[in-house]
Amino acid sequence: MTDDSTFEAAFKDVFGGAPEGAWAAPGRVNLIGEHTDYNDGYVMPFALPHITRAAIARRDDGLLRLRSADMDDGTVELAVADLAPGTTPGWVRYPAAVLWSLRQAGHDIGGADILYDSTVPVGGGLSSSAALQVVTALALTELHGVEGLSRQDLALLCQSSENTYVGAPVGVMDQTASACCTDGHALHLDVRGLVGRQVPLDLSAEGLRLLVVDTRVKHSHADGAYGERRAGCEAAAAALGVAALRDVPHDGLAAALAALAALPDDRLRRLTRHVVTENRRVEEVLDLCEAGRLRDIGPVLTAGHASLRDDFQVSCPELDLVVDTALAAGALGARMTGGGFGGSAIVLIEADDEQRIGAAVSAALPQSRQFVTTPSAGARRLW
Ligand code: ADP
Ligand code: MG
Repeated sequence: MTDDSTFEAAFKDVFGGAPEGAWAAPGRVNLIGEHTDYNDGYVMPFALPHITRAAIARRDDGLLRLRSADMDDGTVELAVADLAPGTTPGWVRYPAAVLWSLRQAGHDIGGADILYDSTVPVGGGLSSSAALQVVTALALTELHGVEGLSRQDLALLCQSSENTYVGAPVGVMDQTASACCTDGHALHLDVRGLVGRQVPLDLSAEGLRLLVVDTRVKHSHADGAYGERRAGCEAAAAALGVAALRDVPHDGLAAALAALAALPDDRLRRLTRHVVTENRRVEEVLDLCEAGRLRDIGPVLTAGHASLRDDFQVSCPELDLVVDTALAAGALGARMTGGGFGGSAIVLIEADDEQRIGAAVSAALPQSRQFVTTPSAGARRLW
């Protein structure tokens, strides 16, 4: 990523004038808690050091001009007054959605020139889309002096803009991670009530590493399958007479799993079993983090992968290959992270094993890219 003055010069090259400031928002990995956010459950992501940057200047002619250094479609120009759900094609629908939602919420925000660039792999399951939304929301609201919106409010606004304007029925985890995470911590979030807790997570101090492996595949049915899983969860909750799968009676896991017998078919039973057991895994990982037993997180991650693969059925051969290879090479635990059907896996390893396990994964899936990561800062103003 270029330095501040080069980024500023790039803005001037594209738009002619100087930016008023620049903001950044990170991508994320989810340590544990997959497909639980839209079931009112628990998640535990942390922010990556990879960020999407936005340099921005306000305009007074009602135009929104957008440019991404990562896309080859040049500058895209939209009239703010014409923004409407479902009408904006391409990547600009994410920032357009954010501006539209802010205006729908009554904030007097007009046109702008915005230049983006990013170190978050795009489409890698590491939430480049949430980074793009959150950096836009933070830049626009801070530049306009909008008051009374918390970071969580911004995340909710970004999520609802994605649901309504982009048309993707996503939960609130990714945007919350990008907006609310803090350096050195994972964010434990109870999505019901949106109660967040910053959990210190210093893997290096324990001689551990977290390896992120981007499979660089994204299967084309991913979006439809996500909606289908979500609809299945809602159908299961309705059949069980609870508001959300989070509410499956859980005075003990056995009781919760026994409740599944009331469901009409095996597909709904499997979806529900994943959500029930995954919520427990989040609580287990939280307890292990707080007890300083970070090595013991490994098997919980691996169990989460098996549940996503077998019960929720959102893994894919490439993710399974990465997980199986890493475990066979001696990883403490491994799982897919993010929505699935491609994207990335996380692998918990002893620091001494970094080269060996990294090489084994590369040899098994040569197209993959990997990096070791650590919990990093959430969205912020750069200058
Ligand atoms: P992920 O969020 O896992 O990276 P998604 O499919 O949810 O994958 O989001 C990727 C999409 O977000 C891209 O296809 C593009 O439309 C948009 N996007 C993300 N980052 C950028 C960027 N730096 N510049 C332009 N568009 C981006
Ligand atoms: Mg995304």
